[in-house]
Amino acid sequence: TKQNQEWLQEYVEDWISFYRKHTKEGKVASYIPLLAEANPDHLGISIFGANGMTLRAGEVDIPFTIQSISKVISFIVACMERGVGYMLDRVDVEPTGEAFNSIMHLEMRKVEKPFNPFVNAGAISVTSMLPGRTSDEKLEPMFQLLDRILGYRPQINVDVYESERDSSMRNRAIGYYLLETGFLESDLNITLETYFKQCSIEITVDDLAQIGLILANDGEDPKNQQEIIPRQVARIAKALMLTCGMYDASGKFATYVGVPAKSGVSGGIIAVAPPRVRDEELPFVDGCGIGVFGPALDDKGNSIAGIRLLRHIASQWDLSIF
Ligand code: GLU
Repeated sequence: TKQNQEWLQEYVEDWISFYRKHTKEGKVASYIPLLAEANPDHLGISIFGANGMTLRAGEVDIPFTIQSISKVISFIVACMERGVGYMLDRVDVEPTGEAFNSIMHLEMRKVEKPFNPFVNAGAISVTSMLPGRTSDEKLEPMFQLLDRILGYRPQINVDVYESERDSSMRNRAIGYYLLETGFLESDLNITLETYFKQCSIEITVDDLAQIGLILANDGEDPKNQQEIIPRQVARIAKALMLTCGMYDASGKFATYVGVPAKSGVSGGIIAVAPPRVRDEELPFVDGCGIGVFGPALDDKGNSIAGIRLLRHIASQWDLSIF
């Protein structure tokens, strides 16, 4: 396996240098001023296998804010705190085919619940359902879950949080709309403060790979078989990632890559390759988590080089769950 690991490591490094040129075709997010400062040439990947194999290449040590990938964590935590039934009664699980911060779509469906926990409307509603009266109280179970998964407690990037908060007209509009329609269960300002803070949690690709690995293993840590996320909740999170995780390119990602994934506007992607039954020769039949970081985005808001890299890896290693 050691030899295997060295050999695979060389491949991953080659793939990073090949796909790095595609970063030129994208643009870093600029609607939040501080995100515009990211380096568009960066591209990094970490792959953590349930077999203990670790592959890392490119810019793996650059911290970045988790952004929309936090929606996976807040939804999982809300399900753990409030119960799956409670959450699914209040937020739907259907893809929208619209941009993540769409407000038009929300209005067309007036009295019904938000489409899914990964568009902003659903995510802000989910955040309002987290227990606690202050943003710190609401964030605490998210930090505790992250601490259990990662083995350390990540920090909020305060500059990004403030930049996010001060350029948040659209999210405020969504918040008011949720308030009007009865889908906001906490004070609007506290909810938005929590949402902006959760988006501003700073992580690395290693952290994304580790979260992905736990999800691939249905919520258990493969090292010691400890349950970190209840199996049912992990399963629902993966179903949502597959159907709604990559903005309005989720169908294409499912078709061409074929694994549950979630992206964010800072250029992170978490991809989850569950265990497979066939072909023992492939390196990750027992599952792996993949973290990608590439801040140059395509027009849907996904890391442009990151998607191509994942597509290539998924085809080389036959990762598709289909
Ligand atoms: N903070 C971002 C927003 O709500 C998250 C966007 C994203 O990563 O999709 O505007």
